[in-house]
Amino acid sequence: SDSHFPVPISPSHVDYSLHYPQLFPSSGQADSSKKIQFADVGCGFGGLLISLSTLFPETLMIGMELRDKVTEYVKERILSLRVANPGKYQNVSVVRTNSMKYIPNYFEKGQLSKMFFLFPDPHFKEKNHRRRVISPFLLDEYAYVLEVELEADPVVKLLCSATEEGQKVARNGGQTFQAVFRRIAPSDQT
Ligand code: SAM
Repeated sequence: SDSHFPVPISPSHVDYSLHYPQLFPSSGQADSSKKIQFADVGCGFGGLLISLSTLFPETLMIGMELRDKVTEYVKERILSLRVANPGKYQNVSVVRTNSMKYIPNYFEKGQLSKMFFLFPDPHFKEKNHRRRVISPFLLDEYAYVLEVELEADPVVKLLCSATEEGQKVARNGGQTFQAVFRRIAPSDQT
């Protein structure tokens, strides 16, 4: 049950020195500007995290896994990779937890730039639907911890103010309305 694993009472109580000892040598969250940005929810044996670790070497990331033995396996996997590749895999860690209950204990509002839910258990039987990590009830919580990407993108701030037309509107006390479009590849065309 949940009583077998510790849960931080708030994101500021997550001990980064335990997870990323080379980056946070002293106890606690030494460099508070550096926070976990990727979470792999139900990370299983950690393959995605291991690949992401070298692809995004500057990003702190964590796997959240319910099964104790699987979590221990991922911990060992990361530790041996760190030993075999000095200086690498320092940005990746794993925690045993129930992501359906404790996400807000780990991450502040808007902290995460990416959340991964890869091959989550489908729980086909209706009586088990409540165990699905993707469910309408949890979307608010996921939205809470996710960064609003457009606001974080430095380019977006320029859209209203950097062009001469935009400056003219601002000078005249007008309003600007910005729209950002995301291209979706059509499924029926090549
Ligand atoms: N993402 C991995 C992959 O693609 O190989 C693992 C997929 S596996 C089908 C689903 C994983 O989610 C299992 O390891 C399971 O223990 C974990 N899981 C299920 N519910 C969870 C929860 N509430 N909190 C954390 N992990 C959970």
